[in-house]
Amino acid sequence: MEKAYCENCDKFVDYKTVEKNTYHIIHGKKYYYNRIVVLCNECGKEASLNDIIDENIWRLEEAYFKENPKNMN
Ligand SMILES: [Zn+2]
Repeated sequence: MEKAYCENCDKFVDYKTVEKNTYHIIHGKKYYYNRIVVLCNECGKEASLNDIIDENIWRLEEAYFKENPKNMN
C-alpha cells in the first residue's frame, strides 16, 4: 500500500481516508464538495498524498463548473 507523508510525524506513514463535506471560496462564492481527508494512522493528524490532492482538485473543479459552465476554458 502506498504511504502518505505526515508532516507531524515527519515521515511516510500508513493512513486512512475519510470524506468530509466542505467548501472552498472562489471569487467570493462558496462551492461545496466532498473532500477526501487523509489521516495518519500514527498520530491521527492530516497527512498528504498526491493522488488524493489531485482527486480533491478534480472534485472542486466539478462543483465549480457545474455552476459556471461558461467559464470553462
Ligand atoms: Zn502522523
